[in-house]
Amino acid sequence: MIRYNAVEAASIREKLVERVKTDVATCYQCGNCSAGCPAAFTFDYAPNQVMRMLQVGLVDDVLKSSAVQNCIQCLTCTARCPRNIDIAGIFEDLKTVAVAKKIAVPEHASTFNRLFLENIAKYGQLTEAMFLVKFNMAARKPMNDADLGMPMMSKGKIEVLPKKAKGADEVGRIYRKAMEKAKWHG
Ligand code: SF4
Ligand code: SF4
Repeated sequence: MIRYNAVEAASIREKLVERVKTDVATCYQCGNCSAGCPAAFTFDYAPNQVMRMLQVGLVDDVLKSSAVQNCIQCLTCTARCPRNIDIAGIFEDLKTVAVAKKIAVPEHASTFNRLFLENIAKYGQLTEAMFLVKFNMAARKPMNDADLGMPMMSKGKIEVLPKKAKGADEVGRIYRKAMEKAKWHG
């Protein structure tokens, strides 16, 4: 049974209108977003279910979901929505909130997302080898995907030593500001 929390629902709606410029209240559950989502098979809740959960104030469950963490930002859902709801924007925003609030989510997803963002904040670009080593260590799977990574490194597809991009310090400042902003209250 779905628990309806009117106060929480109103608060989430307001924040999403302010931050993502989109209104979950207009979703009428047509399911178009979920039907076109290429990653939904890895989600615990389909995109339309996430919209419904936000409508009834279940933001804590959404923040802990693999749906928010596994979204690959392909934007198909947003393009297909007849109500012009920016579903991908909502997923991206909530993923940032989950990282900022250090919320525990399934299958090392929060660790992956946090290390990914920190890597970009530090170097101004993704330094793949460094990022993957850090992630594998944090996930306690040091040899994870080594069979894929090693040939890529040997062919120069992945840079072994991390390099700072131009403007990396500025990217770092933007990241810290975004993290501060993402710490929701209530
Ligand atoms: S496509 Fe839009 S209106 Fe339809 S279920 Fe998804 S969010 Fe709701
Ligand atoms: S943006 Fe995310 S939720 Fe939307 S269709 Fe792509 S993977 Fe699915």
